[in-house]
Amino acid sequence: MTTAQLTSPYQHYVYAYPHKTAYRELPDRPTLRSLWAAEDKSALSLYLHIPFCEVRCGFCNLFTRIGAPDDLTGAYLDALERQAGAVREALGHGEQVRFVTAAFGGGTPTFLTAAELDRLCDIAEHRMGADLRAIPLSVEASPATATADRLAVLAERGTTRLSLGVQSFVDSEARAAVRPQRRADVEAALARIRDAGIPVLNIDLIYGIDGQTEQTWLRSLDAALDWQPEELYLYPLYVRPLTGLDRHRTDTGDPDQAWDAQRLRLYRAGRDHLLARGYTQQSMRMFRRADAPRQGADDYACQTDGMIGLGCGARSYTTGLHYSFDYAVGMHEIRGIIDDYVATVDFARAEVGYRMDAHEARRRHLLQSLLQAEGLAVDDYRARFGSGPLDDFGPELQLLAERGWLTDADVDADADAESDTTRLRLTPEGLAHSDAIGPELFSPAVRAAMAAYERK
Ligand code: SF4
Repeated sequence: MTTAQLTSPYQHYVYAYPHKTAYRELPDRPTLRSLWAAEDKSALSLYLHIPFCEVRCGFCNLFTRIGAPDDLTGAYLDALERQAGAVREALGHGEQVRFVTAAFGGGTPTFLTAAELDRLCDIAEHRMGADLRAIPLSVEASPATATADRLAVLAERGTTRLSLGVQSFVDSEARAAVRPQRRADVEAALARIRDAGIPVLNIDLIYGIDGQTEQTWLRSLDAALDWQPEELYLYPLYVRPLTGLDRHRTDTGDPDQAWDAQRLRLYRAGRDHLLARGYTQQSMRMFRRADAPRQGADDYACQTDGMIGLGCGARSYTTGLHYSFDYAVGMHEIRGIIDDYVATVDFARAEVGYRMDAHEARRRHLLQSLLQAEGLAVDDYRARFGSGPLDDFGPELQLLAERGWLTDADVDADADAESDTTRLRLTPEGLAHSDAIGPELFSPAVRAAMAAYERK
């Protein structure tokens, strides 16, 4: 049996590197002003986190709580406004501060009322200085909260992309994933989103749900395709510690090979289904309609640009530090962290984070490029770091090549470019194993910090 066969394809979804479980309290609590002083602030991305949902889906380990008693959303927006003021103060008010993309995520941003969403946009625009109508603005929503009044506010304030968490169009599968919803309600929400005229609709779907077959999976995909979404995200189901599904799990924690095989089978079926219907694959999870406008948070250079995250659970990135607030998955702890956030008056310092050195920056660039279908442009890497990816990560890349997961370095004849670009790219099977490749590329230090993290 080869190493590739021994490794479960489903180790870890790498949406950010390092993961927040590698963050630790920063004893020196550096001021934001000092952290941002020497940074290039001309192409920042802005993220606002809303940690509230109507229900807690069984698979979800995001930083969010159920409901918001006693006007907690109002108090949360007050805190967000205080934090925005402190961060903007730290960035300075010169013309060199410019936001090129914005996103509201969570949680469920549309848990907020229409008036509260208006206020959220005001905070992004007036407090932070992001020109929402001029830049891509992506917002996440759930079917029940994608109401006409909220969508009208979001469209009017410049939302260019609305991402709807559907997960499955089959009611019994939605129940099995502990996300109870009726297909009729999902369809009505999709109709409202299309009526609102937001240019890009993304639909999230999940495969690997108990009871799901290839037939029902393709049925869900076809139901989504009826709406001609500009983007589709296909997520493998994960059962993560402390989530709702984990509490129902009875196995020993050994890799479940039959489940791995089911997820791989459904992944390939879903991928082929979309490729045959005019979608292009951007990454293991993301597919884009070939004629869709290219906009949204995925189009900016996430390898290099600075990120400002506002709200409890949001991350911020400078060249030398990734920072956030305390992190938890368990409900009780999340509620406590949100309460602490809401009571915070002084947001001028970074409290929890991970220091990035030159080596980690290289790893991050490698990971974030290689896990995209278009791969890593070797010239860009060399221009940024002064060495080639094979100089820095030869053995790791060699291993991927031996497994048949890396194409031979190929040359793109870019139509309008003077020079050709050599790219390192995953093969289709490599892309299918993105969630195994990513964690293998974590540094020993990040891996150790993640392993030492005490889940709460
Ligand atoms: S998956 Fe989305 S809607 Fe469900 S609990 Fe998590 S953040 Fe909330």
